[in-house]
Amino acid sequence: MQQHSHVPGDPSWWFTEALGAEGNPAPAPWLAGSTKADVAIIGGGFTGLWTALALKERAPGLDVVLIEAKVCGAGASGKNGGKVHGYWASLPGMEASVGPEAAVAIARAGTRAQDGIRAFATAPGRDVWWREDGNVRVSASPAQDAKISTHMAAVKRLGVEDTARELTKSEVRDFVRSPVFRGGLFMTEGANVQPARLARALRQEAIKLGVRIYENTAMVGLDNGSPHRVRTTAGEIIAKDVVLATNTAIAKDDDIRPYVTVFSSYALMTDPAEAELEAAGWVGNQGLSDLRMFVHYFRKTADNRVLMGSGSGPISFNGDATNSILTTDVDSGQRAVRGLRRLLPELNNVGVDRIWGGGIDVSSDRLPFFRTRPGTRVHIAAGYSGHGVNPTYIGGQCLASLVLDQKDYWRSLPFCTRELPRLPPEPFRTIGGRFVRQGIIACEEAEEDGRTAGPISKFAASIPKMFGLKIGTR
Ligand SMILES: Cc1cc2nc3c(=O)[nH]c(=O)nc-3n(C[C@H](O)[C@H](O)[C@H](O)COP(=O)(O)OP(=O)(O)OC[C@H]3O[C@@H](n4cnc5c(N)ncnc54)[C@H](O)[C@@H]3O)c2cc1C
Repeated sequence: MQQHSHVPGDPSWWFTEALGAEGNPAPAPWLAGSTKADVAIIGGGFTGLWTALALKERAPGLDVVLIEAKVCGAGASGKNGGKVHGYWASLPGMEASVGPEAAVAIARAGTRAQDGIRAFATAPGRDVWWREDGNVRVSASPAQDAKISTHMAAVKRLGVEDTARELTKSEVRDFVRSPVFRGGLFMTEGANVQPARLARALRQEAIKLGVRIYENTAMVGLDNGSPHRVRTTAGEIIAKDVVLATNTAIAKDDDIRPYVTVFSSYALMTDPAEAELEAAGWVGNQGLSDLRMFVHYFRKTADNRVLMGSGSGPISFNGDATNSILTTDVDSGQRAVRGLRRLLPELNNVGVDRIWGGGIDVSSDRLPFFRTRPGTRVHIAAGYSGHGVNPTYIGGQCLASLVLDQKDYWRSLPFCTRELPRLPPEPFRTIGGRFVRQGIIACEEAEEDGRTAGPISKFAASIPKMFGLKIGTR
């Protein structure tokens, strides 16, 4: 087994691979001086790039400028698990928080997004490692079993039985063999992608359609007016409409902070493991995850590696997306390593090539929202909650509708219309959130080991439910 550093760091394995596949091109120029545009998009991840494409498709003559503080795809869009699915797996939670009709409307929008991403990803000449075989959720401890029946009851109640199928233990083994897998759920909707390649392909398409992209160009200030003025390190953009597609960076803004808190997720990439994958019977391309709250998500790559992620990273204080605990927490990286060793013991002799982490913008009901700031032409996206590969397509469509003032299907969705509950204020939110997080980690680890967690951990894990919160509930 090869020895690699187990300290999380940038860039992600995906991002290095994607840039290498492109021949390590020089970044786009940075913005120097003043420029005018119809629309200024801030942020070159999936949200910003899908928005740019949607705008150019709907209004080809529109002059769109996109600025990115680093290079396109260097943020969460080039770091994630690359698991692409909408909201069918979230039905029971959504039904409880937004109601049955809104829950189904949201899940159907996810399916439309899946269609749109597939069309882009599989277009001739693109190689973004799109593989679409569905999504498997497995119970990996007795405590996770109940989520299967809860899910099946919800699909039945909502009349959407075609979206999920219950799997017995032996049916789970047909996908991947593991001594800890119990029953599971097969979700019809689900694909895998090389996320950084997808982000880079979106960038190329945006450039082809005439979007002016400036990299290494951070927005350092925004002056509201008609038009707006986006100040950058060495220039400015004067634009009628501004789209803030900056992901976690927006969480510190006054109008976002009551609804979004910044957590983190950590992932690892193994060395190639063709023989071991065969030994585990993992022949299909289904993405998998367990049924913990701090979920383990895992999938294969086109070159037979395994990505294992753990959505259990630390919480940043007061929406600060620059806090280094979001990207350098060794314990969270090691939870992903332990997840790999426990869930896929056939790979015990396979080395870990790289570990990395990134911030996730968790909203108060775990769903994203897209809005125009009152009295301005500034449009915002926030709250993907660690699940953004499919929903950023929705974000792009909703933001394009807001920019173009089109009262269409996308704008009628709960993403643009619902009211979000407020989170507790700081410092209680972070102090409480960290206490709850430690409690949940302890309870879920105890459940996996067949132990009972201590009373303090149990108490901590029960706090969100006690206060009627929609995040942190198991
Ligand atoms: C480790 C990890 C695993 C994940 N796994 C999954 C998964 O398997 N499936 C899934 O659906 N979701 C997953 N997610 C979530 C998903 O990656 C995100 O929700 C999604 O990529 C968000 O896209 P975005 O474009 O909004 O943000 P980003 O990709 O972060 O893009 C925002 C961009 O804005 C730029 N920016 C910020 N501030 C400024 C500024 N002032 N000026 C200019 N530019 C700025 C940043 O540099 C960045 O490139 C995961 C996230 C992480 C961190």
